[in-house]
Amino acid sequence: MAKKTKKSVEKFSFNYDIAESIVNYARKVSEEGLTKGTWGNISVRDGGYIYITPSGFPYDKLTPKHIIVVDNEGRKVYGELTPSSELPLHIEIYEKRADVHAIIHTHPVYSTIVSVTLKEIPPIVEDAVMILGERLFVSEYALPGTEELARNAIKALGNNHCVFLRNHGLVTVGENLQEALIATLVAEKTAQIYIEALRVGKVSILPDEHAKLLREKYLKSYRQK
Ligand code: 13P
Ligand code: ZN
Repeated sequence: MAKKTKKSVEKFSFNYDIAESIVNYARKVSEEGLTKGTWGNISVRDGGYIYITPSGFPYDKLTPKHIIVVDNEGRKVYGELTPSSELPLHIEIYEKRADVHAIIHTHPVYSTIVSVTLKEIPPIVEDAVMILGERLFVSEYALPGTEELARNAIKALGNNHCVFLRNHGLVTVGENLQEALIATLVAEKTAQIYIEALRVGKVSILPDEHAKLLREKYLKSYRQK
């Protein structure tokens, strides 16, 4: 008779430190003015679980107990509130990008200008190319909170660390929340530089081979653990 094997189920236990760090970063995002009101959302992946901010919840009232935890198919395992409406986007990114453990979605002004006017930002400045990617793309439009938005976003994200969501805002990713927040700040700064530069005159673009070298250097050796 075949031996019965026990299906191994990863047992969930709530990690308070992760929830607390999401709350701290959510405060920073709000204080930096990267999003207004309750818009935007933040998540962290921990093994097979995703810790995510609640939908439509004020940042200044957020505490670790308000964070929701779902499994990698979106089934709630912890929390009383409704998870962010952009949960499908977070799930899709974690599924496609094994290197990503934190995601920040915001609605900053210059990134949103890019999202309503342009298709991409070419390689123009060193930090953006290194931290975010050689060319930074705007995804195809889709209704917020949909699977379609998630699919369009991952397509335009590729292996980059940011994607502009058409007529909407910005998504950045990182190995951790610190990296994802720096990516948000650099993406917004780069969007501002590019928008202002287009108004001033002809924009000088970095040679493709230099952009490639800078990005490779960042991914392989610049980041110190
Ligand atoms: P949530 O408040 O549901 O997280 O979503 C806000 C948002 O930015 C939707 O794109
Ligand atoms: Zn949004």
